[in-house]
Amino acid sequence: MSFKTDLALSIRSIPDYPKPGIIFRDITTLLGDAIAFRQAVDELVKPYVGLGVDKIAGIEARGFILGGALAHQLSAGFVPIRKKGKLPHETVRMAYSLEYGTDEMEMHVDALKPGEKVILTDDLIATGGTAEGAVRLLRQLGAEIVSACFVIDLPDLGGRKKLEALGVEVRTLVEFAGH
Ligand code: AMP
Repeated sequence: MSFKTDLALSIRSIPDYPKPGIIFRDITTLLGDAIAFRQAVDELVKPYVGLGVDKIAGIEARGFILGGALAHQLSAGFVPIRKKGKLPHETVRMAYSLEYGTDEMEMHVDALKPGEKVILTDDLIATGGTAEGAVRLLRQLGAEIVSACFVIDLPDLGGRKKLEALGVEVRTLVEFAGH
């Protein structure tokens, strides 16, 4: 079997969670599998080796797990993008769209310097609303976004296209059809 098939099989799919009609793509099973976790991180890292990436920005919460591993592999720093009210120091804030309504995410105002090369990461891209908010927040601080990477793409929801329209390269490892 191919690496991508193995990786897709290591992700648990839970129908009707958190609500009817949604299939939750649960990466805890991938993270708990030593081989799958290493392969996923190695595969995500590959295209970025030697690019001189300064920081990995991870979206709360599963983006922290991947982001920490990517930062270590690329000898880059790690920057958390958190839900509002969680970061202790002065922050910059950005609204982003959810399926119903909006929420806000934050970064520390001194989390990166203008011109630093940043890779954005999260476990999954669906509509792209979360990642779009993160891109705008990073750019507000002057980041040069090298790329955005995700383990899972739900292409039917259009997130990849949304980020590409913002001029952000998108890399993903596995795709699942539907929601
Ligand atoms: P979106 O903003 O629509 O691209 O949604 C992406 C964010 O919501 C990511 O942080 C994902 O972890 C989470 N998410 C959205 N849909 C799913 C899903 N079907 N399974 C697991 N996580 C999801």
